[in-house]
Amino acid sequence: MEKTKKITSSIWKLAWDIIFPPICVNCGTDIEDQSKFLCQNCFDEIQILSALRCPECGARLANSDSACHKSNYVLAPASKFFPPIPALIHNFKYKELIKIGDILSAMVIVCLKNSGIELKDFVVTQIPLYPTKLRKRGFNQSEVMAKSVANYFSLPQENLLQRVKNNPQQAKQKDFSNRKENVKNCFQSLNSQKIAGKKIILVDDVSTSGATLFEASRVLKKYGAKKIIALVVAKA
Ligand SMILES: [Zn+2]
Ligand SMILES: [Zn+2]
Repeated sequence: MEKTKKITSSIWKLAWDIIFPPICVNCGTDIEDQSKFLCQNCFDEIQILSALRCPECGARLANSDSACHKSNYVLAPASKFFPPIPALIHNFKYKELIKIGDILSAMVIVCLKNSGIELKDFVVTQIPLYPTKLRKRGFNQSEVMAKSVANYFSLPQENLLQRVKNNPQQAKQKDFSNRKENVKNCFQSLNSQKIAGKKIILVDDVSTSGATLFEASRVLKKYGAKKIIALVVAKA
């Protein structure tokens, strides 16, 4: 019988950790377990918010029915765009560390849970990616979170919108009117029957100017959505 040399799993794990040492994705400090992604200090920096905000001026809203500026949606940001959030989102989207989605999903779930919104009858959906972008990345970061939210609260998750224009990156656009112009008509409904009369939780990673959420909620409203809560990891 052929004799094979076996390396025990603990030695193999040690070798792996030496070749690719587990580090905090935010500050680069050594950590024990790469599946945690953050060191304790960076993890402790995360502060979860639960207030609903007016997307126009950022004012705190008493509940999801109260209005401040006229807008198609109310914003539920789970956090501010402060470290370690930018590093988590960057590593999730561009380095394809898909398990980071678990941290970000937990953040938006806790935010929604603490917001006091009566969640029954809501449908969860997400800002879609353009098909070629989706193929390149292999997953839609917002869809990963939308599925976790739907699963946690036992709500249906539906693909309600599609992206029909491969607009240049929003981050490259200067101001709100440029950003608004950049995303204009980039979404279409995928299933208008599933939108009409519905209360919708619309998931996205970060809201910067709000132009993307503005455009997506405009289309959802056009097809008869009753209420839209935009749930994001952070408001930049
Ligand atoms: Zn750190
Ligand atoms: Zn306002």
